[in-house]
Amino acid sequence: MDKFSKVTFIGFGLINSSLAHVFKLKTLAKETTAFSRSKETREKIKNLNIVDNVNDNIRESVKDSDLIVLGVPVGAMESIVSEIAPFLKSGTIITDVGSVKKHLIDSILPILPSDVYFVPGHPIAGTEKSGPEAGFAELFNGRWCILTPNKNTSQVALEKIKFIWEQAGMQITIMDAEYHDRVLAITSHIPHLVAFSIVGTVTELEDQLKTEVIKYSAGGFRDFTRIAASDPIMWRDVFLNNSEAVLEMLGRFIEDLTALQKSIRWQDGDSLESLFTKTREIRKGIISEEQD
Ligand code: NAP
Repeated sequence: MDKFSKVTFIGFGLINSSLAHVFKLKTLAKETTAFSRSKETREKIKNLNIVDNVNDNIRESVKDSDLIVLGVPVGAMESIVSEIAPFLKSGTIITDVGSVKKHLIDSILPILPSDVYFVPGHPIAGTEKSGPEAGFAELFNGRWCILTPNKNTSQVALEKIKFIWEQAGMQITIMDAEYHDRVLAITSHIPHLVAFSIVGTVTELEDQLKTEVIKYSAGGFRDFTRIAASDPIMWRDVFLNNSEAVLEMLGRFIEDLTALQKSIRWQDGDSLESLFTKTREIRKGIISEEQD
């Protein structure tokens, strides 16, 4: 596969900086540029020495690029695309790493020039850390990357984006955008919401009890705090942009939670044990798929 001549990373947090490490390691482009809106982040990027240029002007940064990677919160992508659209050269590929797909595609397609290709993507890999210094090339290794092509995706553009994620060590799957959002609602968005909610409950406890909870957090709470430490803006945008699928899955989850509440109230140990046995099987499945 031919190298890209110039890739521009717009937004340079955990995901785009990790991808930039891969670009550097595998020399996937002749030139790499990073744009980030804050001076503080741009200084951090310069110190990392993983891209050729760091630019404070978004229009200039996309000039002559044949690949743009959007790595900002989902809610910021539409206005960024409308700002850069007039400055893109014909044949440019835009891809993104956002956690929500349908709403993003619906908002971007109408503002995209007809000679620019859009390949929406979502690498299912991450940590609770943010910022350019959180990135590392191995983040994606062995994980899945979901691509959700649409009428603005050419086969050539799709193959090029597949190739990048394969170079990052990912397995690729193609999915309908709406289906992606429903799958991610249950595998990622609801678990994060539960963590935000449980940890949020602790913030409301009286001081003495709060101290005990933090002290004895190894009992399970600690794992929720790791998830609930994820970037607040990114997660705000995920819930605002995937509200339909999240609300549907949340409805199911609340029903199941209520059933558990009933089992506990009625001392129905058989129901509890039967559910906990089934959930153990799910964990075994994840381990056997090497996704633990
Ligand atoms: P991050 O570490 O929080 O970095 C965010 C980047 O976006 C920074 O460069 C920030 O710029 C920029 N940014 C934030 N708000 C912006 C705005 N309103 N306008 C322009 N730029 C803005 O982000 P991340 O974790 O890499 O996430 C990036 C994308 O990847 C998100 O869409 C997320 O849904 C998706 N994703 C995340 C994970 C994960 O686990 N984190 C996994 C898969 C996909 P400044 O620092 O200069 O302000």
